[in-house]
Formats: sequence, C-alpha cells, structure tokens
Amino acid sequence: MTDCLFCRIVAGEIPADVVARTDRALAFRDIQPQAPVHVLVIPADHHADVPAVSGADPALAAEMLALAARVAREEGVAETGHRLVANTGLEGGQSVSHAHIHVLGGRPLGWPPG
Ligand code: AMP
Repeated sequence: MTDCLFCRIVAGEIPADVVARTDRALAFRDIQPQAPVHVLVIPADHHADVPAVSGADPALAAEMLALAARVAREEGVAETGHRLVANTGLEGGQSVSHAHIHVLGGRPLGWPPG
C-alpha cells in the first residue's frame, strides 16, 4: 500500500483510462484534460520527477520519451504538432510527485504557457 496516487494507478488500485503501456511505463488520459489530447506518461517504478528518472535510469527516461512519441502518433497529433511537458517541483507547477510527461495536442497551444 502506498500513498502515491500514480503508484496506485500502476497497481490497479485506482482506475485510469490507459491508452498504451510498455514493460516499464504506462500512458493514461489526464483526468482534467487541458487539450483534446492530454495523456500522461509515467514510469511504473516510483521516481519523484523526470530529472530523477534520467539520473537513476536513463534507459527508462528514453522509454518514457519513446512511449510519448507513440501516444502522439496513435492519438493523431504526431503530424499536426503537440507538446511534451514535464512540470518539475514547486515552481514548475508539479502537483503529483511521481514522474510524468504530459502529451498535449489537438488544438493550437499558445506560448508562453500561463
Ligand atoms: P502536474 O500538475 O504536472 O503534476 O500534473 C499532474 C496531473 O495529474 C494533472 O494534470 C492532473 O489533472 C492529473 N491527475 C490527477 N489525478 C489523476 C487521476 N486520478 N487520473 C488521471 N490524471 C490525474
């Protein structure tokens, strides 16, 4: 039993709309989508944030990026354009302390973000 929300999704204790998975990573729809396509890519193992993944297990970070690219293709936003976001830490706006990459697309995305 863990109090990490995304670990509980990996364990199947909390339902999620899973769109793709690999041996070590999972992709599921964000519960509060900010765009027509809004999918989160997470490692199955717990890491606090994306820099922690790349420091501890660079191959896993690469696997997450490859899964994000696959999700973009399968969701139809690889060609139209999309955005990968890894909010990190307090000022980065990270609200869940389990590494995740947002895959956003399906509408024009402004810059800079708010
Ligand atoms: P961040 O603010 O970058 O840490 O992103 C965390 C994201 O997790 C937010 O976009 C939330 O909407 C999303 N989220 C929180 N709880 C769930 C859940 N149970 N299922 C899917 N997405 C969630």
